[in-house]
Amino acid sequence: MPFSNFGLEAGILRAIQKAGYTRPSPVQTAAIPKVMQGNDLIAIAQTGTGKTAAFVLPMLHRFSLSNRQGPPRGARTLILAPTRELAVQIMENIRDYGQYMPIRVAAIYGGVDEESQIKALRKGVHCIVATPGRLIDLLGRQKVDFTELEMLVLDEADRMLHMGFLHDIEKIVGNLPQRRQTLMFSATLSKEIESLARRFQFQPKLVQIGKRSNPADTVNQCVYEVPGHLKNALLLELLASPKLQRVLVFVRLKDGADRLTNFLKLAQVKVAKLHSSRSQEQRNQALQDFKDGKVRVLVATDIVARGIDIEGVTHVVNYDFPVNPEDYVHRIGRTGRAETQGEAISFVPKQDLNLLNILEFFISQRLDRRRLRGFDYQAPIPAATPGEKPEKRDWRKRTRDLAAKKAAKPQPPTARRGRK
Ligand code: AMP
Repeated sequence: MPFSNFGLEAGILRAIQKAGYTRPSPVQTAAIPKVMQGNDLIAIAQTGTGKTAAFVLPMLHRFSLSNRQGPPRGARTLILAPTRELAVQIMENIRDYGQYMPIRVAAIYGGVDEESQIKALRKGVHCIVATPGRLIDLLGRQKVDFTELEMLVLDEADRMLHMGFLHDIEKIVGNLPQRRQTLMFSATLSKEIESLARRFQFQPKLVQIGKRSNPADTVNQCVYEVPGHLKNALLLELLASPKLQRVLVFVRLKDGADRLTNFLKLAQVKVAKLHSSRSQEQRNQALQDFKDGKVRVLVATDIVARGIDIEGVTHVVNYDFPVNPEDYVHRIGRTGRAETQGEAISFVPKQDLNLLNILEFFISQRLDRRRLRGFDYQAPIPAATPGEKPEKRDWRKRTRDLAAKKAAKPQPPTARRGRK
């Protein structure tokens, strides 16, 4: 489901797009509609799940609906967080997601001079992000105005309780209007959290995000950061290893599949291709040849590869990095099946590093970065010669060089053995 389905204001969607998020995380999918409907909410989700956006986006949307003009008088939202670092991080998130809106945020926390914080409050803010201690202090001196408050968020509520903030939180909530929306985020659902909910919330909805589904443990995953123009050469170098017995290579587009297949053929790699412009007969043949081991490499696009089941794929290569995390999980699931170990190798050129970050966020896992020893990652982009596409000339030369290198090298005995 895309972010646009939530009905968020256009400026917020623009900021999300700028952040590079392609789709909401599970906690966002579950929580955002409930918060936008005005419900109180208990969300059980850990840091790193995207929980901050789950409350910040609906909060900003609420601000955007208001037609009040001029600077705000009292704060409309209060977010309580256990630590100064978290408070600052939440404030930065609000500024990021709200960059196309005229909103003012202040962070109130101890350990620093309070004058600048008081000054910010005096000017008027829409939202306060605070740690409990300093806020109590300023409340006591009547520096904060909560008469217009509509929403309270307790972030990392369990941690705040463990840190002994219960009394402070009670005091703060006692200063807020009774009619408000209260959201509580916590890593665990304990008795203490339930008790807090009973006292501070009205018929809260519960959102609980379990462990996210991770790619099979039987797949070793790694990444090669490689410039786009060197992907062919790197693939060929990797194929020099006999460990890559049955290799499924994913590319984004059909003509990319054609080009890569031609290149591999030139390099004398046994290869077949699978994409939607090929006839059913050709597709069946390609698949059969791959299954029978007549070809070692199958180059495929995502659409065609969906649903096909091939036994014994030892390696999946993401020649083009997948745009959607789901595609990644699906692609690498083609190997490491039935408890056998498989390997997933992804090529990531600089321009796709943001896709890698998003993927790692979704699978809660940092992928191993690898570099192939002896490979020249700095090799220049070849200049075009008249009448010939640069990549063609470059690949032809590389192919010849590599084929010569391969011919000169005796094949290890395992290369000829069948699988297992
Ligand atoms: P949080 O759990 O709120 O601390 O978020 C963890 C990280 O995930 C932050 O760096 C966010 O910028 C990022 N993030 C939040 N939502 C998404 C999303 N839908 N897609 C990708 N990254 C996200």
